[in-house]
Amino acid sequence: MDLPKHAYFQGKIVPYSEAKVGVATHALNYGTAVFGGMRGYWNEEKKTLFVFRPHDHFRRFLNSARLLCMDLDFTPESLTGILLDLLHQDGYRQDIYIRPLAYKADEVVGVRLHDLQDELTIFAMPFGQYVKNDTNAHVTVSSWRRIDDNAIPARGKISGAYVNSALIKTDAARSGFDEALVLTQDGHITEGSAMNVFIMRDGALITPPVTENILEGITRRSVIELAKNELGLTVIERPIDRTEVYICDELLMTGTAAQITVVTKVDHRPVGTGSMGPVGEALRKMFGEAVRGNNPKYAHWNLAV
Ligand code: PMP
Repeated sequence: MDLPKHAYFQGKIVPYSEAKVGVATHALNYGTAVFGGMRGYWNEEKKTLFVFRPHDHFRRFLNSARLLCMDLDFTPESLTGILLDLLHQDGYRQDIYIRPLAYKADEVVGVRLHDLQDELTIFAMPFGQYVKNDTNAHVTVSSWRRIDDNAIPARGKISGAYVNSALIKTDAARSGFDEALVLTQDGHITEGSAMNVFIMRDGALITPPVTENILEGITRRSVIELAKNELGLTVIERPIDRTEVYICDELLMTGTAAQITVVTKVDHRPVGTGSMGPVGEALRKMFGEAVRGNNPKYAHWNLAV
């Protein structure tokens, strides 16, 4: 993977090689950081880079920071301004991934959230496809359980919490699966390792509610809007039982990295017909056009760099 060119670090934009922290840094030792992840899509005809829903991403980022008692003097608007400065310096003419990270920066021993200095960094690097088989993924139901709101809140993108995602992803990958579905402690489907989940059942699009230990995905929100407005689908937010994914007609996983990934097999059981269904296909097409700045109706989702 290509390294970032620059980073916003300690209040200014520097070459990436100069954005370094010491090994005693609190966040590195205790996972006391929060992050975001958004994509920029290069539109070759328009010769423009479009960042997807940065305001929504930064709002969630600042909420994650609040969960870790961070004192950050930024707004979604000021963060967007920093991002634009960074991307102007980077000058990418290809698809990219953007990572804002806020971290407990003190080089001290002592696990806590309070009385620590919070720092912000943002960097971006070239980025392509994340799930290899994104039109015919084979997933397993993970033997790991999703972190719980009363342990580490899943609605925050908290660095330490991603050990949970890493355990899930590695065990799935080493067993030959593309991804995994993760259950809550009481056995409902929450999401994947880093993506939200939708099923089509009896003509309705169903996804777990935000109270089921999910990350409140920006792609999830976009898919709900597209499904309702463009496909006229009924969208239901309710808990999903494990066995519903064995009998549903379509299964989708959505996220910034995964975009809209169509799952066609769960633990060797075919989903629906066993190949991509009409809702997944339509959503992928519409989403692909919207993120690249090719659908005027959703132009408000795009920030042109
Ligand atoms: N769940 C988790 C755990 C994630 O890390 C992500 C990726 N940010 C998502 C869901 C999808 O969220 P989004 O669509 O905002 O990228």
